[in-house]
Amino acid sequence: MSEQEGAPSEDRRKYEFQKVIEDLKDYTGSGTQLVTIYIPPDKQISDVVAHVTQEHSEASNIKSKQTRTNVQDALKSIKDRLRYYDTFPPENGLVVFSGAVDTGGGRTEMVTEVLESPPQEIQSFRYHCDDEFLTEPLEEMLGDKGLYGLIVLDRREANVGWLKGKRIEAVKSASSLVPGKQRKGGQSAQRFARLRLEAIDNFYQEVAGMADDLFVPKRHELDGILVGGPSPTKDEFLDGDYLHHELQDHVLGKFDVSYTDESGLKELVDRAQDTLAEADLMDDKSDMEEFFQELNGGDLATYGFEPTRKNLVMGSVETLLISEDLRKDVVTYECPNGHEERELVSQRADTPEHTCSECGEDAEVDERDDAIDHLMEIAEQRGTDTHFISTDFEKGEQLLTAFGGIAGLLRYSTGV
Ligand SMILES: [Zn+2]
Repeated sequence: MSEQEGAPSEDRRKYEFQKVIEDLKDYTGSGTQLVTIYIPPDKQISDVVAHVTQEHSEASNIKSKQTRTNVQDALKSIKDRLRYYDTFPPENGLVVFSGAVDTGGGRTEMVTEVLESPPQEIQSFRYHCDDEFLTEPLEEMLGDKGLYGLIVLDRREANVGWLKGKRIEAVKSASSLVPGKQRKGGQSAQRFARLRLEAIDNFYQEVAGMADDLFVPKRHELDGILVGGPSPTKDEFLDGDYLHHELQDHVLGKFDVSYTDESGLKELVDRAQDTLAEADLMDDKSDMEEFFQELNGGDLATYGFEPTRKNLVMGSVETLLISEDLRKDVVTYECPNGHEERELVSQRADTPEHTCSECGEDAEVDERDDAIDHLMEIAEQRGTDTHFISTDFEKGEQLLTAFGGIAGLLRYSTGV
């Protein structure tokens, strides 16, 4: 996949969203006064402004003077921000958060955040006013990495579609002309059985054709295919090699489902939860396997902030591995003799004093950055891929606890 020059990578953008969401989740309002608006890409900005204006006038009915003022201030701030947009929101839509949040001691502070182009398209307009910001729809998008093909079938009906993250999309359906088991009078039993088998075979071919049309063009992005239906239909379908051979290899499992209409797709995803969780971790697991192999027997592993950073700067890192639960800042210090040193600190901690380890002089703070941003920026300049690693499996958790949440797989050995 080619990235646009200068544009941050998709992973980096997801991380930026993640950080903003974590901040927003910490905020509360003393009343129902925190406004969240999800705007799909096909919604005219002028319609949204009209909606906000309407809410503003309705807010005059709010009894508590403080809440009323806060809600109206939030809505005004949102209107001000929407003026920067043309007719329609940017690609995938827009999410706006605004409200007076508690800062302790009965004080409040006005916060307004506008998130452009979330990782997935916003499906419907949503206006939400509560004592918390509404972040769940965005969080779901961020947690969603998988693309799975879905097939449900019995001998009468079939549906194929997608599972994109947590969203199920029914795309195509077919119904068969397979006759029931009861033959009509006058038909020979043998002939009836043959016609019936032919009809079943034709139907399986038709279903496979639908699946091929949909999934084959996407086979390189596909994380797997799930097949559902009653027995023995789904088994016959899979064992009969009806699917394109490249798709056959992608089948993660077959599951008993009782419906084969669109609701069957949902039932299939429900049944496959464990398999899906396992598949979501597959890439992370293979990254960590490779890392431990290099660590124990090879020389293409690096870990910890400073060694990994040095390798990144040299351009020797093939893949940067970052624990998705790493939340650290990096402080860069410079001493009077020009020595530059860095220290990692918790994101909520004050910036500590620092004594230069080379000359013993007191060093001054040069800058303080988010550690992941800091590393990913170097990675992007050097053509290094960044992979975020979940802590939901043992080796993933070890990356965070034993290796400081930062590691790298090297292109060549550097001895750093
Ligand atoms: Zn120094």
